[in-house]
Amino acid sequence: MMTSDGVGETSLLLGPEDLAPILEHNAAGRSPFLLACDHYGRLFPRALGDLGVAKSELTRHIAWDIGIAGVAEALSDQLGAHLIAQRYSRLVIDCNRPPGAPSSIPMISEATTIPGNEGILSDAAEARRREVFDPYHHRIEEVISARLHDHLPTVLVALHSFTPVYAGIARPWHIGVLYHRDTTLPALLLKHLRAEGDLVVGDNEPYAVSDLTDYTIPVHGEARGLFNTGIEIRQDLITDEAGQQQWAERLARIFREIEVTLRAERMI
Ligand SMILES: [Zn+2]
Repeated sequence: MMTSDGVGETSLLLGPEDLAPILEHNAAGRSPFLLACDHYGRLFPRALGDLGVAKSELTRHIAWDIGIAGVAEALSDQLGAHLIAQRYSRLVIDCNRPPGAPSSIPMISEATTIPGNEGILSDAAEARRREVFDPYHHRIEEVISARLHDHLPTVLVALHSFTPVYAGIARPWHIGVLYHRDTTLPALLLKHLRAEGDLVVGDNEPYAVSDLTDYTIPVHGEARGLFNTGIEIRQDLITDEAGQQQWAERLARIFREIEVTLRAERMI
């Protein structure tokens, strides 16, 4: 497959029938919250087929963050917040892993092997980075730069969802706040979520953010000096549209309160 993209490079991966990797929603939104959704979609470039993975596996959490797309779009609408999302499956290339890390193009996810990723040649890995990972992260970078240039307050929120049972272990949390170097926004978010009264809230559970296991928060949030946090919602709570809508409403209310606090304290 030799498709020229017009700048002298040969496309090894995305063809004319494949969708663009980036989905944007409310790009003109003026909320301080900038929403990123690394695991929004589960598309595969046609050239990759299904990577040898059984169809029944391709709708599981290993391929994408179940339910988060609906939450992200509804939250973006309610806050008037710019959402930047990745349409391709994390099994193609994980947009929240440093390229080159073993989990970037995983050979195994939970207990499922990904035959099409085993022994991947460096050219093929590079093509996934160049055509899926890079455009997404370049766009986030460009949007943050434009906002800073225009003196728009910018708070980065990375939206994820997690499977209720992983490797046989049930997870009790309804929602988790994930962070590393920002000590302001995650603490505010934890306080508000705990005050809801009906939630089991994870403090860096079921995961914590680190430079080795994450990309979006360290690179776009921490390195650029933005307030930032990750959010993980348990997937069984947002499987259907009603659940997605409820969580978006709850989070929108909380984020509006947090915005008031950040402005009152002159932090944004
Ligand atoms: Zn995720």
